[in-house]
Amino acid sequence: MALAAEHRYLRQSRFAPLGKEGQRRIGGAHVAIVGMGALGSLQAELLARAGVGALRLIDRDFVELSNLQRQFLYDETDAQEALPKAVAAARRLARINSTIQIKPIVADLAPRNADELMEGVDLILDGTDNFETRYLINDFAVRESTPWIYGAAVASYGLKLAIVPGRTACLRCIYPEPPSGSQPTCETEGVLGPVTAAIASLQAGDALKILARGRESVAARLTTVDVWNGEIRQTASPARDHDCPCCARRKFPHLEGKLRAPISLCGRNAVQIHERARPIDLAALAGRLSPVAAVRVNEFALRAAVDTYELTVFPDGRAIIRGTTDVGVARSVYARYVGM
Ligand SMILES: [Zn+2]
Repeated sequence: MALAAEHRYLRQSRFAPLGKEGQRRIGGAHVAIVGMGALGSLQAELLARAGVGALRLIDRDFVELSNLQRQFLYDETDAQEALPKAVAAARRLARINSTIQIKPIVADLAPRNADELMEGVDLILDGTDNFETRYLINDFAVRESTPWIYGAAVASYGLKLAIVPGRTACLRCIYPEPPSGSQPTCETEGVLGPVTAAIASLQAGDALKILARGRESVAARLTTVDVWNGEIRQTASPARDHDCPCCARRKFPHLEGKLRAPISLCGRNAVQIHERARPIDLAALAGRLSPVAAVRVNEFALRAAVDTYELTVFPDGRAIIRGTTDVGVARSVYARYVGM
């Protein structure tokens, strides 16, 4: 290590379990962060400061004022300029650590670009907000034998789990199917900055350990945190499913796009997300959405005005999002308000 680099990371390399050799490995590592919201932006800052050699920041969204309460790296100017999060993050990180490579990628991670965007990385960090993308990451990670760190947070609670293909349960061993019905989301339940920061920190801690000490070094325990009740729990990770379609039978339908909800343009300014075979309780969804949106509901459909979009959801899970022709935006609106 050059002297300046040695000095820069001294407090970290002096931590004996990491050491100079661990620091050298961290400096040679390549990490992809998928989703640069509350989880991803803090993960990125922690890893950039720690000297991870190359970071790939993947996000399709733009900075908004309502992000600033919990999303590190972004400021009011970014929101006023509506900068893409990946770009705003890369600019800020370059000022924090000019000695590492940072590649912002403004894109929606999807089956068609997953290979290109995640290829060759040593580790993937989950900063996403939906199961569809997590299954895609899981398929890729298991196929390539790349460790990834699953994390999620909503309201005051969150969880973290390291997934090391070949050694631990994968996401589909634990959740063979996405949770059914509509799910709590940060839009409907809110989310506290301290819980996203806690989960992102736990993910970054696992990341540094895997990079410095190898994939065998990290505990395969599920950690859950609630910053409102002050509860922190660890449970043994569920055992591997020896008939898991993904890590046992090595089928990767999410990566091949086979299980992705078909989407089509629908009229001049609307996108339809087709029947997802996941029936939705419209009354329950209305209850969740009513604090944040004007909602009308009957037995046939729910209609809600969210942001600048009009979201219509049907009992079979189908939805029409008016106000956009961008399928990525429509997918994001669905994930944020209905959950997926
Ligand atoms: Zn599995």
